Amino acid sequence: MAKKKYEGKYAEMAERFRKDGCDEYTVEKFIRQQMEEDEFEIGYGTTDIEAIKEWKKIPEDVRDMLLHNAFCRNCGEATFKLGYNLRLDKFGVVIEGVCDKCGGRICRCCY
Ligand SMILES: [Zn+2]
Repeated sequence: MAKKKYEGKYAEMAERFRKDGCDEYTVEKFIRQQMEEDEFEIGYGTTDIEAIKEWKKIPEDVRDMLLHNAFCRNCGEATFKLGYNLRLDKFGVVIEGVCDKCGGRICRCCY
């Protein structure tokens, strides 16, 4: 019996994935994705629906790279903390959020 690590609807989702035969790694990945999507909706600031659409067109491995390859004035290379916002400017998607390490504000352009 796996220990309970998710609450509410995430627990239900996890249960469903497990029944479908997903291993814990895959379950974790799906739940994390869902949580990130939910954070987009409840996140601070404004996240543009169009920006989310553009963001989803970017391959997952590239998105992952972008999120872990921002620049923080305090830390140098930085990772976005969950709860970042997406915004669309005339060139493409811009990620705005805070540094996972120091909490400083960082942003990154995806182009
Ligand atoms: Zn930092």
